[in-house]
Amino acid sequence: MNTPIKKSHYFVLSSYLIIGLLMIVASLFSSHLERELQFAKQQLDQTVKLKSQVENLYQHARNRSVILFRLVNSRDLFDIDELNLKLSAEASAMILLAENIQGHTQTETTKRLINNLLDEFRFNYQKQAQVVKLVLEGEHELASSLLVFDTLPAQEGALAMFRQLQAYYDIQFQQQNAHISDTISLIKKYWSIGLAAFLILLLIAGKATYDRLRKTDEIQQSFQQQLTEKVNQRTQELVLDSGILHNINEAVVIADQQGLVIKTNPPYDQLINALEKLENNTIWQQLEQLFYGFNALKTQQLMTQQNLIRQEVLLKSNEEQHYLVDIFVIENSQLNQQYLGFLLTDISHFKATQNELEALANYDNVTSLANRHLFQNTLQSWIKDNKNFTVFFIDLDNFKWINDTQGHEEGDRVLEQVAQLLTRLLPDSANNLVARLGGDEFSILYRETDELKIANLANEMITGVKQLYQVINPSKTLGCSIGIAHYPKDGTNREDLMRHADYAMYKAKEQGKNRYCLFSDEMNEQIHYLYDSEIKLHRALEKQEFYLVYQLQYRLDTLSVSGAEALIRWESAGHFISPAEFIPLAEKFGLIQSIGRYVLQAALAQLATWNHQAHPLPRIAINVSTAQLNGDGFVDAVEQALTDYQINPNQLELEITEGLLMDHLSEDNKALHKLQQRGLEIAIDDFGTGYSSLAYIKHLNVDRIKIDQSFVRDLDYNAESYSIVKTIISMGHSLGLKVIAEGIETLEQLAILRELGCDEGQGYLLARPLKPHDLSFDALKPSQLNL
Ligand code: C2E
Ligand code: MG
Ligand code: MG
Repeated sequence: MNTPIKKSHYFVLSSYLIIGLLMIVASLFSSHLERELQFAKQQLDQTVKLKSQVENLYQHARNRSVILFRLVNSRDLFDIDELNLKLSAEASAMILLAENIQGHTQTETTKRLINNLLDEFRFNYQKQAQVVKLVLEGEHELASSLLVFDTLPAQEGALAMFRQLQAYYDIQFQQQNAHISDTISLIKKYWSIGLAAFLILLLIAGKATYDRLRKTDEIQQSFQQQLTEKVNQRTQELVLDSGILHNINEAVVIADQQGLVIKTNPPYDQLINALEKLENNTIWQQLEQLFYGFNALKTQQLMTQQNLIRQEVLLKSNEEQHYLVDIFVIENSQLNQQYLGFLLTDISHFKATQNELEALANYDNVTSLANRHLFQNTLQSWIKDNKNFTVFFIDLDNFKWINDTQGHEEGDRVLEQVAQLLTRLLPDSANNLVARLGGDEFSILYRETDELKIANLANEMITGVKQLYQVINPSKTLGCSIGIAHYPKDGTNREDLMRHADYAMYKAKEQGKNRYCLFSDEMNEQIHYLYDSEIKLHRALEKQEFYLVYQLQYRLDTLSVSGAEALIRWESAGHFISPAEFIPLAEKFGLIQSIGRYVLQAALAQLATWNHQAHPLPRIAINVSTAQLNGDGFVDAVEQALTDYQINPNQLELEITEGLLMDHLSEDNKALHKLQQRGLEIAIDDFGTGYSSLAYIKHLNVDRIKIDQSFVRDLDYNAESYSIVKTIISMGHSLGLKVIAEGIETLEQLAILRELGCDEGQGYLLARPLKPHDLSFDALKPSQLNL
């Protein structure tokens, strides 16, 4: 806004300057001209004076001529004398005048003229004297002729000179007059220029002043407008602010630095309504009166270090109401001092939600026991306390069976009952913690190390759990296996303690379930062995120490090859490690997925090679751990491998061990169903060892059952084994399943199995597990075995 004013300012200033200069030049010129005019006037005066003197001179000359004539014609002596005197007077007057004119004449021409005139006068004066003398002598004739022929012509010459002088002065007069009038008109011109400049100056100054006034007026008007807008806006803001202040749920107070309350809103007024003796109470006193947990002094001290303080407090009049008190400094250059703002937010609702979330985060929603998260945290804090305590790791036996066969609701009910039992047995929550870690796993932290008390508690748990569930199937009674570890003897950190308690539990299961096992030094050694094994297994995978062997399977009626089972081998530094040993370890360490992938790829790659031979292998069976089946991506991996090696799904069979199947696989296993739909065959391995009912197997819709080799081994001399094998074959057939016997070592065993109508067989008698290049190509021919 300043720029246009400055511009006009500069314009006006420069205009003033130029016009001022113009006026000065004009006045300088005019004063010079005035001086010149003055001089010209003086000259004119002089010329006029000289001109009149010339006139006088002429008059005197004429007078002299007349006197001369009268003198010549006069006869009276007195008259002559008198006339002579007049002539002399006239002559001297003329000479005086002429000299005076000469004295004031500057030009050479006039000077010369006057000199000539003077010479003429002097000549005439001599002649006059001669004439007078002649007259006085009475020689009038002579005098007249002298007068006529000498004096008068001289007089005439003088008169001519007079006229020249007169003409000269007339011209001079005219020229000077013209010069004067020129000078006057020039002066007039300069004056009018000066005047015009002055008028322009006046005009510009007037215009500039007008513009400036107009601009000032405009600025003032816009300023006024802005001010009005600002005031309106601020008024609106204030109205909104106060609207917010009066309508928000939060209680708001503004106080000065001394704590004097300046402004409050209705929620705060409501809060302090109930308070007594409010007069002159500072905000600090009011807040102390209102809340538990609010320390005014401490807060004021804190306010000297920070500009914002937040604290959680509890309302005294309603202890379920939690408030968040925010105190902040209000600072603004427009305020004459600092103020304090207090924002009191009712957070009871959030608190309740927070408690709920905390409960969700820390407690199990089925049993309401502490969950794994709270358990881990508590265990950590107990370890930090560094006092002795005991950890129980409890795993329910046969829970999966109940859950699968009786439904999840029933499963949940069992879990709840177990939780109640454990809580009942450990009522002192200050000295113990009962938690559900997940599934059917529970854990207890117990501040006790007395062996007897611990043994009693474990036994109480075992008997208590046994009684919880009404027996439907005697082989499926609910029970629990417990592993026990002591702090700090069996582990000084969370991971070691839990791993050891878990291992002890695993041992209890191994020893026949429904019992407890204390962690021991021996177990520690075993764990170390396992730890070593884990490292070795990892290395084996990296170094590709695994390979597959194939054991052919035969139709027992024709003794022709019906398929082959792929069996994994691990050869490390010249040692063979049995899959029966390392597969469970691989499952435990989570390596089974990688191993399973290797087996799938290698077996299908081999089958693809065989498929190009004259007599392709009808089917290949691979052993699949349930951990694989339940893991992510198993179905995809199988389908991908089938596509990659262009294998017909009917050529692939998956063997799943019966025991594992019962414990870990539900009837609605999606992976299994998907694969079955794709045309894959499913065989139950080691059948007869897992106590599974054939009805359950039927639900799973498998294709084949494999009689476990433990029944085949003594088939020819153990009546029980014989009858079991016989039952499995006949029941399997009645359910439409194929039956295969494994571990056939003798001709007797083979003969009995053929007699009992067993469909297929596998064993050292028929073929040993062999590497692919050791497998005789002839063996794949549908020819009879030479037995
Ligand atoms: P399985 O699936 O029941 O395999 C049959 C086992 O019996 C094999 O032992 C085989 O070598 C052995 N066998 C075969 N015929 C006879 C016989 O006439 N007499 C005797 N005494 N034994 C015979 P292997 O190879 O040591 O395998 C042991 C177990 O390891 C397998 O039992 C299977 O459960 C598991 N396994 C083997 N390979 C794999 C695999 O690739 N993946 C998975 N998950 N498990 C595997
Ligand atoms: Mg097998
Ligand atoms: Mg088997």
